[in-house]
Parts: sequence; C-alpha cells; structure tokens
Amino acid sequence: MKLFPGLIKRLFFPLSGFLFFIFLAQYNLPLIAIWLDQLHWVPYLTLGFAALISLQFGRSRLFICSLACIAFYLSLHLSVAQLESIVSCMMICVSWLLWRPDKGLQWQNSLITSLEVSTIVVISWFSLPFLEQTLAPVTATLYSLLIDLGPFFSAHYSPFQLILVGFVFVAGFIRILILPTNNQIALFVLLLGLSMILAQSSANFVLLVFIGLSIIFIVATLIDSFNMAFRDELTGIPSRRAMMQFVQTLGRRYIVVMCDIDHFKKFNDTYGHDVGDQVLKLVASKLQQVTGGGKAFRYGGEEFTLIFPRKAEHEVIPHVEVLRQIVASYPIVLRGQDRPKQPPKKNAKAKSAKPASKTVHVTCSFGVAERNAESSQFEQVMKEADKALYAAKKAGRNCVKSNI
Ligand code: GH3
Ligand code: MG
Ligand code: MG
Repeated sequence: MKLFPGLIKRLFFPLSGFLFFIFLAQYNLPLIAIWLDQLHWVPYLTLGFAALISLQFGRSRLFICSLACIAFYLSLHLSVAQLESIVSCMMICVSWLLWRPDKGLQWQNSLITSLEVSTIVVISWFSLPFLEQTLAPVTATLYSLLIDLGPFFSAHYSPFQLILVGFVFVAGFIRILILPTNNQIALFVLLLGLSMILAQSSANFVLLVFIGLSIIFIVATLIDSFNMAFRDELTGIPSRRAMMQFVQTLGRRYIVVMCDIDHFKKFNDTYGHDVGDQVLKLVASKLQQVTGGGKAFRYGGEEFTLIFPRKAEHEVIPHVEVLRQIVASYPIVLRGQDRPKQPPKKNAKAKSAKPASKTVHVTCSFGVAERNAESSQFEQVMKEADKALYAAKKAGRNCVKSNI
C-alpha cells in the first residue's frame, strides 16, 4: 500500500493551499470585498496563463478546463439556477476527463476531445433536469439526511445536487487513487472547487476559487513537465539528463560510481521483460537509499550512476558496499505467473496445485572513480568508473572495484 503516502504527498499541498484560499474567501469576504471588486479581471489573467502553459506543455485536459472556467466566469451574469446547471455539467465533464488519458493537443486528438466534451455537455444539460425529476421521490427521502449532515449542506445543496457531488467525488477519488499524477490531482481539486461554486456562486467567491485553481493548474503542469524531463519514466529516479545538470554543480572533489545489474539479459530471458522492469524499479529504489551524501541516477538500460560530491574514494566505498549487500540480499518474490514458461517436471499432484511463488536474487557490480588531476573532466571520471566496473565484472561480479 505505497499508494496512499504518494497520493497524500501529492494531494497535501494543492488541497491545503486551495482550502486556505477558500477559507479566506468564506470568512473574510466582507473585509476584502471592496478590494476584490477591483480585481474582477484577475481570473481572466490567471486562467488565461494556465491555458497558455497547459497548451505549451500539451496538457489538453487542463487546457480545456481553463477555457471552461473562463467561459463560466464570463457567464456570471446568468441566474443562479442557470449557473448551477452549468456547474453540474462541468462537474460531469471533469470527472469524465479524469478517467480519460490526456491525448495531447495534436489537432486530430483535439478535435476528438472537443467532440467528446461537447457531447457530454449536451447530454448532461438535457438529462440532468430529467434525472432530477425522475429521482425526486428518492431524493426527497434524502432531505432528512441533509439536515443531519448540518445546516451548510441543507442550505446550499438540493438533495439531487448532493447525490451528484457525492458521485463525482467518489469517482474522482477512486481515479486519483489509481493514478495520482499532479495533473489528475489538479482535476480533482477542480471538482472540489466546482462543488463549492455549486453551493455558493457569488462573483467574489468564484473569483477566488478560480485564482486558486489556476495556480494549481500552472504548478501541476510545470511539476509534471519537470518530472517528465528530469525523472526516469520507468524507475521514477532522476534521469541521465538530471545527472548532467547535477554535474554542473560539482566542485573539484567528487566520486562517480557506475553500477550495472549482473546477468540481466539472462534474467530478462528467463522471467520476461515485465519482471525485468520490476527488478529495475526495485534496484533503483534501493540505490536511492544511498547514504554518505550520494545521489543516484538511471544512466540508461540496467546501468545506474551514483555521484558523491565533496568525497574521497575511501569515504565512499563503505556506503557503496552497503548498497551492494542490500540489493544482493533482497529476496525478489516471483508470483505464479512470473515463473519461467517451461513447465517443470511434475507429477499429477503438482499439476493440480496452485502455482507456487519463487524467490530469486539479483546482484550488481560497482566501479568507483575519483576526480583527480589526470581525470579532471566528468566524462573522464565516468570512463574511469566504467573501467573499474569492467574490473568488477571480470572479478566475478557482485563486488565493488575502484580505479586504483
Ligand atoms: P553483465 O553481467 O555483463 O552486465 O551482463 P548483462 O546481461 O547484464 O549485460 P548485457 O549488457 O548483455 O545486457 C543488458 C540487458 O539489460 C539487455 C536488456 O535486455 C536489458 N535491459 C536494458 N534496459 C532494460 C529495461 O528498461 N527493461 C528491461 N526489462 N530490461 C532492460
Ligand atoms: Mg550493461
Ligand atoms: Mg548488466
């Protein structure tokens, strides 16, 4: 259940920041109302900026949502009932977008997305009032529940709206549990913002909600794009590009360690590429636990690089040795379907038994090199670390060798 800490970490800042914003809006409105009256143009600016940033980074869903929020903000002169219908349609669209992968902003995909969004808007626009009428006898019984939930809910939501809010929230929450990217979380917070607007659609409140949302859209797009550029997609650890940027910060003393998984080709051939990928993730996560001030990067394939700034070789080797042992001693449990395809020789009893899990181990070889007068450029130090790695392979693998 590593999912929850990841989700909570990602959800914490946007959600708490957003709720703080809403708290300000809710409780200090009379105090800042005059000030806000002067700022009615700000959401156009921030949402426009969010639309531009998401356009630039090919985030079609946030682009559409930014434009939809601008359109809604332009429609604030409409009646409360009309605004509530628009918000309900927007909530359905956003929950649908949450469940759909971002197909980018290539023109054919944009056309398909626009058609899909328009269809959902039209269907929701006409079907929601019908649904509300049809469900009226059922929703009436919910009214007492609304009163039980507190005066806020009964004062601000009709029973049908409460069902709608509950439905989109459960659907949205399940989705971000499955895929907790920053973009997904931004869409989920948008759902929260829309459900608040459904309860209170005053101009100043919408203004604050939209400013808060645009900040979340911009930050989510930038963080996801940064991660795409500087994080390795498979393992999630910093990529080679991140390493080259990190290299620029290094001084005159540092250590480079090249790490390579032993006999990985054989491992892939035996257990399949997918299991190989899982093992790469596992090794990466173990290497990330490096102590002694080191930083781990995926160099490429089954090779990783560790960099220890301001360290000498003798200070680093014990930490690398610890990592070697951590990886080598970690039991990798292969479930039934991960086992080799060739059926083992078995008797009838074994045939009927459930495929048992099997435990295997992987090992890594490490080559350590220090920056010195002869190898003063990073590329030269890397070459030296590569030579040491080759020596470790020749020495029988699963060991640490240095270039001296
Ligand atoms: P050695 O002990 O000498 O390092 O042997 P090796 O088999 O690990 O080395 P070799 O360079 O021959 O093979 C590397 C293998 O790593 C080949 C390729 O199938 C595998 N590999 C590289 N990148 C990935 C990846 O992203 N996923 C998976 N599953 N395998 C990968
Ligand atoms: Mg290799
Ligand atoms: Mg290898």
